[in-house]
Amino acid sequence: EFKASEALSRIKPSPTIAMSQKAIDLKRQGKDVIALAAGEPDFPTPEHIAEAGIRAIRDGKTQYTSVDGIMELKEAVAAKFTRDNSLTYDPGSEICVASGGKFVLYAALMATVDKGDEVIIPAPYWVSYPGMTKLAGGEPVFVETKQEDGFRLMPDDLEAAITPKTRWLILNSPSNPTGAILSRSDLKALADVLMRHPHVWVLTDDIYEHVLYDAEFATIAEVEPGLKDRTLTMNGASKAYSMTGWRIGYAGGPAPLMAAMRKLFSQSTTNPCSISQWAAVAALEGPHDFLAERNKAFRERRDFLLDAFDAMPGISCEKPEGAFYLYPRCEGLIGKSAGGKVMETDLDVAEALLVQELVALVPGTAFGKAPYLRLSYAASMESLQEAAKRIARFCDSVR
Ligand code: PLP
Repeated sequence: EFKASEALSRIKPSPTIAMSQKAIDLKRQGKDVIALAAGEPDFPTPEHIAEAGIRAIRDGKTQYTSVDGIMELKEAVAAKFTRDNSLTYDPGSEICVASGGKFVLYAALMATVDKGDEVIIPAPYWVSYPGMTKLAGGEPVFVETKQEDGFRLMPDDLEAAITPKTRWLILNSPSNPTGAILSRSDLKALADVLMRHPHVWVLTDDIYEHVLYDAEFATIAEVEPGLKDRTLTMNGASKAYSMTGWRIGYAGGPAPLMAAMRKLFSQSTTNPCSISQWAAVAALEGPHDFLAERNKAFRERRDFLLDAFDAMPGISCEKPEGAFYLYPRCEGLIGKSAGGKVMETDLDVAEALLVQELVALVPGTAFGKAPYLRLSYAASMESLQEAAKRIARFCDSVR
């Protein structure tokens, strides 16, 4: 009889991936589903990047590489950190590349967290932070943020959450699921707290750095250089360059941490895909002008949906300054019934929306703050217009 490990039994499958799968299954049955559950840009990988991948195959760059990435890519990553974030890392000892930003985080936690260690995770959070923490044997410590504070972590709340067992604080700005941004001064205030607790390390997930509207991006090691020797600055190619399937993530951080992660790579992935690495070199070193154009399209979609939600009874939504998600509050729908069934939680709301209107989005419960819904607007304007129509019809139909 099959028996899963104790470590595996501590976690649940990713709820966002589960919801996307439900949408895919319904589509396969011929249903006209609008899937707003997955978090990936709907633009193709830019041509010059794809070409670099093809060239790598043709040139036979198809063998194993160094476990933490080819030097050409690590140098391009170091140059990126200098250019965009005023951070200096040594490509040889302070940069690593892995199979996706997700694996960078996983490796960092696996390499450092012992049983009982605490990892502070502001909620709502990206679904994988608690799962990875638990897999590593650690304890997620959730710190709730408020819609009134723009879902930003408040320094006093951080201070209150720190204990002698705290190993990491995870930051994610722009945020998935809320799109919230931590400004330079927000980060400075958090850094002031962290400077008083030298045993706490910072894992900053900057994957949405380039998906930004009217806001300035900042990362904590840049704002407080005093934290740089205990900060892992994580980023990647997925969201900036529409390269989700290529699986390239990277990070800058202190040499001992990088060495620990390298050891883990050497016994797990061996190396990130060689072809994707060459494509990522082209991405980092190539033109970035397509970003402004894409952000303009994202912003139009965001504004369209915000206006649409504004007019819907039972729903209220913050205006996010980054990423491509909205996190509307759906409290007004709780307690009402749809299709003869009372909706008691946001899970019920998401389920009813899928069954009744074939719109797939993810309940806020999955991200640790209810009652909310998370939807990705990385979808065509046409499908967003249709989705808005269906959600409005749903809101009007509940009793
Ligand atoms: N971090 C956040 C907040 C994300 O939303 C995602 C992807 O959904 C990732 C990290 C991982 O990205 P990847 O593993 O594709 O680099």
